[in-house]
Amino acid sequence: MSLLPRPTAPMPAKPVADRFGRVKRKLRVSLTDRCNFRCPYCMPETPDFMPRADRLSRDELQRVLRLFVADLGVNRLRLTGGEPLLRRDLEAVIEECGELRPLGLERVSLTTNAALLARRAEGLQRAGLDDLNISLDALTPATFEKLSGGRGVAPVLDGIRAARDAGLSLKLNTVVVRGMNEDEILPLTRWAVRERLSLRFIEFMPLDGRGEWSRERVVSQAEILERLRSEFEVEALPRSNDPAAYYRVGSESEIGVIATVSNPFCASCDRLRITADGSLYPCLFSQRGTSLRELMRSGADDVALAASIRDTVWHKDAGYAAHPGYVERPIAMNSLGG
Ligand code: SAM
Ligand code: SF4
Repeated sequence: MSLLPRPTAPMPAKPVADRFGRVKRKLRVSLTDRCNFRCPYCMPETPDFMPRADRLSRDELQRVLRLFVADLGVNRLRLTGGEPLLRRDLEAVIEECGELRPLGLERVSLTTNAALLARRAEGLQRAGLDDLNISLDALTPATFEKLSGGRGVAPVLDGIRAARDAGLSLKLNTVVVRGMNEDEILPLTRWAVRERLSLRFIEFMPLDGRGEWSRERVVSQAEILERLRSEFEVEALPRSNDPAAYYRVGSESEIGVIATVSNPFCASCDRLRITADGSLYPCLFSQRGTSLRELMRSGADDVALAASIRDTVWHKDAGYAAHPGYVERPIAMNSLGG
């Protein structure tokens, strides 16, 4: 009989939760606030990007992610931005995330505009990426260009094709802004049904860097469904804890709607966010973050870091549902990630 001690499985972490009892399992990690697009619903007109030295180093990032997974119970990471494909070391970041799987990490996902995806899809799959969300606001070239700040739709469609060829599972996301792309709802749906792609429409949220949001510009879930019903049989599917409500459209396809403004899902929110410079924002609508970078650079150990994270999360606000309307905030979506 062997006298060696039996290997033990890691102790499950005590999950981090807020004062409303919402346990956090998902962390969105913004890798950069820079972007090759200028979507008007997201970016300020003249963005003031953070200096590179302010960004978390790879070691700092890995330390924070390890803490979230091993000590705080997070089991899903989503890498976002800005545009995460602008990071040349994205594949390396994904490989390093893979080291956290034995500690409890279940999925590593990516959110991207896909303009630079075609040449990197296979490498991302090899690095261990589990799935990706691709933003696609229009198929009509002129409308796409208006919504991307002058970039073309063709490279994005190439990126989608390459991701499928690489065997990556993907979802498409479309932000609908009145006066810009509500006429794309049906063409995008027809295309997604034909291509058997999963598509979700997102209500325009009051987080744009230009302060142009108004209620009138939000195309609500009800209106999106009305447009879908003008052409398809639409049947509501049972709700899960996904932020999107899903509908069977036609005989086989599923279309989702994320109705943050008209029907917020704050009561079941299990997400947290960190910016590229290491600020923890417990909610998309938080007015300020806690700088984990400052704590690390001033010598805090992991116990102090975890305590600060738990405290910030504990004080997370009820969410958009509790105080809807325009949100005054020093940073826009390109800094916080979507
Ligand atoms: N650049 C990548 C992309 O566009 O997919 C990742 C970052 S982007 C900030 C993440 C998501 O946020 C995108 O799906 C984008 O459409 C969404 N988003 C940005 N601003 C938004 C707003 N004001 N309302 C709703 N969604 C928004
Ligand atoms: Fe860039 Fe994504 Fe913001 Fe568009 S939504 S400007 S692609 S970060």
